[in-house]
Amino acid sequence: MLDLGKSKALILDEKPISASVWCGMFSGKLPDEHKHDSYVVNDIIVKREDIKVDFIWDVLHKNGKEVKALNVPFVVPPYTFNTDFKPVGFGSPTNEQEWNEELERVTAKTKELLAEGPDLLISVFTLLDRIQHFHWGEEYVLKWYKRMDDKMGELLFDFGFLDGDNKLIVISDHGFCSFGDAKVQTLPEYTKEGNLKGDHHETAFLLTVNVDYVIERPQDVFFAILEQNQE
Ligand SMILES: [Zn+2]
Repeated sequence: MLDLGKSKALILDEKPISASVWCGMFSGKLPDEHKHDSYVVNDIIVKREDIKVDFIWDVLHKNGKEVKALNVPFVVPPYTFNTDFKPVGFGSPTNEQEWNEELERVTAKTKELLAEGPDLLISVFTLLDRIQHFHWGEEYVLKWYKRMDDKMGELLFDFGFLDGDNKLIVISDHGFCSFGDAKVQTLPEYTKEGNLKGDHHETAFLLTVNVDYVIERPQDVFFAILEQNQE
């Protein structure tokens, strides 16, 4: 993948808070504009309807494009558009069995949707975030990156997605660092599933193939997709 496309570290100006970053990435809005920075407000789970933005899938769908979005975690459980998908563990997979299940199910669903030839497909895997919260610094993390890599291989190469001139954006909402080094603590250190070892870092990953638009911020993903679909 690295050989095929352009990749770089994406340094976030905004805080690496998942709800906010995913929201901005697919709405094009800065945190000040979309004002969504938490899954729960006043003990109530925030819903899609509570966030006053048009996402890229809303915009393109209105323009008659065939758009699917799968497991996008700007809300809990993660949001799915124009297809059916039941998130694993309410969108917060917390053990090996659930991580495996998410990896398999998101991959399988992504293959199924790719076969339909949509104009745009957005798929999100959350397991690497969860694994790094619990296992940051362990060899175990690398093991799961390799599993993820195998699945990306299935989706992009075995399946032939990159044989033609399809466009691809692979992006994370943030990076990781040791729990105490994070500028923003996104979860309590002690949880009932175990003590946390890692938390979010402001360095995210970006890789693009056949995408001309220069992505410098998560919000640029919205504009990159919009531009590619106006050709
Ligand atoms: Zn996280």
